Amino acid sequence: MALTLESGLRELPGIGDARAARLAKLGLATVENLLGYYPRSYEDRTKISTIDGAPEEQPVCVAAFVAETPRVSHIRKGLELVKVKVADETAVMTVTFFNQAYVRDALRQGESYIFYGKVERQGRQRQMTNPVFEREGAARFTGCIMPVYPLTAGISNNLLAGLARRCVDACAGQVPELLPEEVRLAHSLAQVEFSCRNIHFPESWESLEIARRRLIFEEFFLLSCGMSLLRTGRDRGAGPAVENRDLASFLSLLPFSFTGAQRRTVDEAAADMASGRPMNRLVQGDVGSGKTAVAAACAWLAWRSGWQSALMAPTEILAEQHFRSLSALLSPAGMKVGLLTGSMRAAEKRKAKATLAAGQVDLMVGTHALLSEGVEFHKLGLVITDEQHRFGVAQRAALAAKADGGLRPHVLVMSATPIPRTLALIVYGDLDVSVIDELPPGRTPVETFVVGEDKRQRMYGFVRKLVAEGRQAYIVCPAVEENESPEGEDASGGLADLKAVTTYAETLKTQVFPDLRVAFVHGKMKPKDKDAVMSAFSAGDIDVLVSTTVIEVGVDVPNAALMIVENAERFGLSQLHQLRGRVGRGKHKSYCVLMTATHSQDSRARLKVLASTTDGFKIAEEDLKLRGPGDFFGSRQHGLPQLHIADLAGDVRLLKEAQQAAQELLEADPGLERRKHRPLLERVKRMFSDNPDIFN
Ligand code: ADP
Ligand code: MG
Repeated sequence: MALTLESGLRELPGIGDARAARLAKLGLATVENLLGYYPRSYEDRTKISTIDGAPEEQPVCVAAFVAETPRVSHIRKGLELVKVKVADETAVMTVTFFNQAYVRDALRQGESYIFYGKVERQGRQRQMTNPVFEREGAARFTGCIMPVYPLTAGISNNLLAGLARRCVDACAGQVPELLPEEVRLAHSLAQVEFSCRNIHFPESWESLEIARRRLIFEEFFLLSCGMSLLRTGRDRGAGPAVENRDLASFLSLLPFSFTGAQRRTVDEAAADMASGRPMNRLVQGDVGSGKTAVAAACAWLAWRSGWQSALMAPTEILAEQHFRSLSALLSPAGMKVGLLTGSMRAAEKRKAKATLAAGQVDLMVGTHALLSEGVEFHKLGLVITDEQHRFGVAQRAALAAKADGGLRPHVLVMSATPIPRTLALIVYGDLDVSVIDELPPGRTPVETFVVGEDKRQRMYGFVRKLVAEGRQAYIVCPAVEENESPEGEDASGGLADLKAVTTYAETLKTQVFPDLRVAFVHGKMKPKDKDAVMSAFSAGDIDVLVSTTVIEVGVDVPNAALMIVENAERFGLSQLHQLRGRVGRGKHKSYCVLMTATHSQDSRARLKVLASTTDGFKIAEEDLKLRGPGDFFGSRQHGLPQLHIADLAGDVRLLKEAQQAAQELLEADPGLERRKHRPLLERVKRMFSDNPDIFN
């Protein structure tokens, strides 16, 4: 039976149940799967050399004939040697195989083979150990660029390469061309068949590059199409009309003037809200860039057009904080701000809900409680979520669903995680993006130090000194308890030295700072207990707060002037930058101390980036280069389809090209409904099918 893309790998010779099961572990069930299973690297076996001319210390292919019958010797139990002399016109060479008895019968005297390995010299002797070899004239894996595949137990690279060879030969021509001809030509991209052949078995290094470029482009193109489809799907339907864009009287409420970036962001959001369609905008701004005031301006605009707004914060502390600052700002203009959180007393909650439903609240600030049953808005027009990486798409959608009559409210998402712009476009493809890339004037940067264990006592002394001056300090640790994974990470192992919040806080309390007020907080505590500790810290009743990264999210304690991070090398740079953003929020000179025991030059150099810049975007770019994109997205990353060959961090130029091309195509054929785009649409849907909820 002829092989097709749908054929199961069981149909290939040599693949029985056991191997099929192992291949399935690699996600390989069909020929199509295998063709899409790209090598992770390649071995250069193109150089053919004579025995005498072979370079040292570098494997090469040598064509030679077998000069004698291979000799087998048993050195000791479990060690069997096959030795054979081979020769070409330049020299003789001894080839030795360890524990590969089959070689004795595979190599025939008088026949020519290609041997791939390192030629070693000892005086006039030449020798090669455990080479790959093939009969000359029937060579498949010598004299070529050899693919090296990601493997699993029981599946060797030669086996995979053999399978790939068969599949490519039989089916490369059947792989559908998904890229429209005009896109392919405009971007000088190879055809799919060529790319499929050359990604597995490159004819040359140039061909490999050409194939790779096309396949990366294709993957980005599919991703961009999918994201744009999400966006167009969302654009259908009307949004609440917010036509009045006059901000003058709002601006007069502010105790400061907007920065240019804040102004631009508000203008962009105002234009969205006036467009007749629902806004779906992400506002990215570094810590302290003034996102709250931007949110306030939008809520104010909505109010002026008769709409209610909701502002959802990830913690009670943050919700209360927003409630206080927003009522202070907006109530003088006659706007009514309410608060709804889970820990409020039942009677208070009831009252808050009633005023909300009656339309007596114009801006409701709250936590997840806003999502609960029985929370009804009178006329919801705008939903704002703060620190969005803590909220899923589904939660945003749940809140938006609280608007009546099929009208979708405007959505504004605020995030302090700076993501390089191109990346944001992909990752938040369902959102428009505004960037607040300017801090309000007069901020003094937090002074940052990378400090080794030898200076620990000095660091404690510094804590004491600042506390004596009336300041407060955070100490952040990677884990909650001894011997466990850092919060929010699955990784484990080798963590014995990690500072753990509970035990470390105890040590600090009893041994290091018995005279100071030390408390701890971590993500496994009940929200109520957590918030109680945070409130006490906020009120100045705690000097030193030991915590995990739960305090990473927007809390504002202006009197905190010192951030110490233990095992700093365990954190991403962007995360450290977020942590650092917890200090330097008041009038006091502030410091960030990154403690690390690492002696790795790389780790230290990485941390030093933080000491040298306070630009969150620069730090994010650096992080992206060093650690890849995973860190940025947190759980949100799971909403993105997995990429097989493209690298969001590494191939930014191609990403932009593909994005542009996808956009143009979708302008011409918005739903990819034309017949010739049908396979493309199917493929995009398949790519996203593992993550249906991002289609919300
Ligand atoms: P974030 O973007 O981290 O949420 P906030 O909105 O909490 O930042 O703002 C941080 C601080 O900066 C607040 O105290 C706020 O009042 C102040 N602020 C915001 N915008 C300006 C501005 N344009 N000029 C001066 N201070 C500002
Ligand atoms: Mg904030």
